[in-house]
Amino acid sequence: MIVLSSYVSGTWKKGDGAGQVLVNPATEEPLAETSTRGIDLAAALDFARDEGGPALRALTFAERGELLRAMSRIIHQNRDHLLDVGMESGGVTRSDAKFDVDGAMGTLAYYADLGKELGSRKWLTDGDAVQLGRSPRFVGHHLLLPRRGVAVHVNAFNFPAWGFGEKAACALLAGMPVFVKPATSTALLAHRIFELIVEAKVLPEGVASLLTGPAGDLVEHLRGEDVLSFTGGGSTATTLRSVQPVVRDSVRVNVEADSLNAAILGADVEPGSDTFNGFLRDVFRDMTQKTGQKCTAIRRVFVPRDRAAGVVEELVERLRGVVAGNPKTDGVTMGPVATAAQARDVKAGLELLRAESRVAFGDGPFEPVGVPAGKGFFVPPTLFVQESAAAAKNAHAHEVFGPAATVFAYDSTDEVITQVRRGGGGLVSSVYADDKALATELVLGIGSSLGRVVAISAKVVDQAPGPGTVLPQSIHGGPGRAGGGEELGGVRGLGFYSQRVAVQGDRPFIDGLTGAKG
Ligand code: NAP
Repeated sequence: MIVLSSYVSGTWKKGDGAGQVLVNPATEEPLAETSTRGIDLAAALDFARDEGGPALRALTFAERGELLRAMSRIIHQNRDHLLDVGMESGGVTRSDAKFDVDGAMGTLAYYADLGKELGSRKWLTDGDAVQLGRSPRFVGHHLLLPRRGVAVHVNAFNFPAWGFGEKAACALLAGMPVFVKPATSTALLAHRIFELIVEAKVLPEGVASLLTGPAGDLVEHLRGEDVLSFTGGGSTATTLRSVQPVVRDSVRVNVEADSLNAAILGADVEPGSDTFNGFLRDVFRDMTQKTGQKCTAIRRVFVPRDRAAGVVEELVERLRGVVAGNPKTDGVTMGPVATAAQARDVKAGLELLRAESRVAFGDGPFEPVGVPAGKGFFVPPTLFVQESAAAAKNAHAHEVFGPAATVFAYDSTDEVITQVRRGGGGLVSSVYADDKALATELVLGIGSSLGRVVAISAKVVDQAPGPGTVLPQSIHGGPGRAGGGEELGGVRGLGFYSQRVAVQGDRPFIDGLTGAKG
């Protein structure tokens, strides 16, 4: 069996003892094992801070952008191979593997272009110089300087490639070295990408490190200028936020956690219209793409009462066409969930939803194809129907991280806004409406509880990739249950990795510092 290593302190290191075994989620065949025991994480973080940090800060944005471009090209050149690794280690279909791998490639390329645009500078300014004294001589200007620590990235199991790419792109462009810890269960893909990047020698030493396996005491070694960016479960986030150095030294933490994303069908949308069909397309896609294991997937579907039965019928019809099984088998459209623990969690979550809602689809026979009998972490796609959103509790509070959603019938705009907000803060929700006044009311009604709102009308329905797709130009993150974090969003994504410092002084000095003209 392959034994995976971690890339730390400029070299590949294996952990001690028997490691955790990574399996193919469709067949449960062992693929690799990995251990991180005995790896000196304090020294590994110091190496990143002391070697990678200065090397990156010496580069301009354009030069850092070229590093990102080289990483993106490596992924592009090895795309087919990486898709195979993603399919096998994540149990995902080829199209789902593309979503992850192409997402990493595209996000790195986007930030490479942004680096080119930012040009020969090495840090950013925020706003303009502002007069502070009696005369225009004494001014203040805010600078955004790269933090002189290491950016620790703890990623979730569901996007081993994109999760690495989207976090690394912002940190590296801002000038911070990255220390990446993918989720152990699907680490094979991130590990392979790292191997290719290291082999190609495109990054200065210390700029990117990889911990392939359990985190051990990693977070215990963080310091004040380090940052921690975490994607995963809310309870793990709470644990990480309370680790001593994080609390004591005010280590900056970004969290992307759970989310009960909603899709609202506007009362103006007629069945059969483009907007209506786009709504059905997006709900169905989010239920089944990556077997529902997307943090941005639609979990709650709000439909005007007189349309609810028709929408359920249409969704059930589409769900009947899902072929669950081994993604390597021809015709399979949905794979298993990633781990045995996820399968258990999803099944427990389905029971919570079943306790309060009717099952419209998912209770029938379920036989995944192309897998040995009884093997694989499969769960049936399941659609619930709830006549009263106000009466439901679990559907607004428990994220089932699998192929499940609940359709709620609603009677008024006020009601739907109130019920969407019961999600307690989310990553994204979508509004499907052609009536601009209605769309405005819905977007503004739910907006402050979310990180992103997608407003779909007939004008954009054929262009919008769906709310489940995170684009690097817009922020990703959300308040409350979603973790309170914010990533990406173009140049905004660099802010987390930068220290904003107000510099006050003599105008010519400040202008010289910032390169301002005049
Ligand atoms: P998780 O158990 O919180 O794990 C997420 C990451 O944290 C993994 O890399 C994990 O490593 C690491 N980790 C766990 N305990 C740690 C500790 N004490 N110190 C440092 N790192 C630690 O979440 P998950 O298994 O990936 O998913 C569980 C739930 O998270 C899902 O059911 C879903 O609700 C939510 N989720 C949200 C998103 C999002 O983007 N918002 C994405 C995925 C999942 P190991 O793998 O080595 O344990």
